[in-house]
Amino acid sequence: MSNRLGDGLVVPVTLPGVIAFLLLLGICYQAHELGHHFFGGLVCGRLGTVTLSTYESADGCRRLPDVLTELFGPFVSLIIAYAAALRLRSRPGLLAFGFVFASYFHLRFIPPLMGGGDELDVVRKLGFGNLHLTVAIILFLLALPPLAIAWRSLAAPGRWWTFALIYVLPLPFLWYVDALAALVSGSKAVFPALASITLLRIPVTLLVVDVVMIVGFLLLSGVILSRESAR
Ligand SMILES: [Zn+2]
Repeated sequence: MSNRLGDGLVVPVTLPGVIAFLLLLGICYQAHELGHHFFGGLVCGRLGTVTLSTYESADGCRRLPDVLTELFGPFVSLIIAYAAALRLRSRPGLLAFGFVFASYFHLRFIPPLMGGGDELDVVRKLGFGNLHLTVAIILFLLALPPLAIAWRSLAAPGRWWTFALIYVLPLPFLWYVDALAALVSGSKAVFPALASITLLRIPVTLLVVDVVMIVGFLLLSGVILSRESAR
């Protein structure tokens, strides 16, 4: 997926590399949802519910804890993007580069443009109305520093198309994640009996998917990195 060559990263785009990135994206997406879930449990006093793509605060959660819970997911995504960018700046490498984009923080400006997303919802809950464009512009600008660091970390040859590709690579996943979530623990659950069993109010089927994504990513990235270092 990536290799350091001369004065920048070279990102050889391969099928294992793309799959590893999509698994990392799934993991970051879950970190966002589980961020909502556990923070909500903390400030609301009890856990709500969570799926691959959504969460819900516990019934009766008061207004402020509920708003903070909704903000916490985007905060997790922001922290992943910025922490990865800081790491990338001090020590350029494959993993940090992947995390900047797998955080999908750079694409969070899109849902507000379509009238959705946590951030716009929070703005509405606080009584500021439907500031679609304002929220989208703020999110777009907030995402620029990590993107600039990622851009600068790339080797000049192939920089444009590599950057463009990884920028849009999360989009198909984000488009289909609700459909995937329905298969894991929602209305179309493949194993409905198992999906109804929960641990910390997380469906067991979702936990299995999380473990599969993490193990799959570790195995694939290990193979990719060893292949790259052998070159
Ligand atoms: Zn969220």
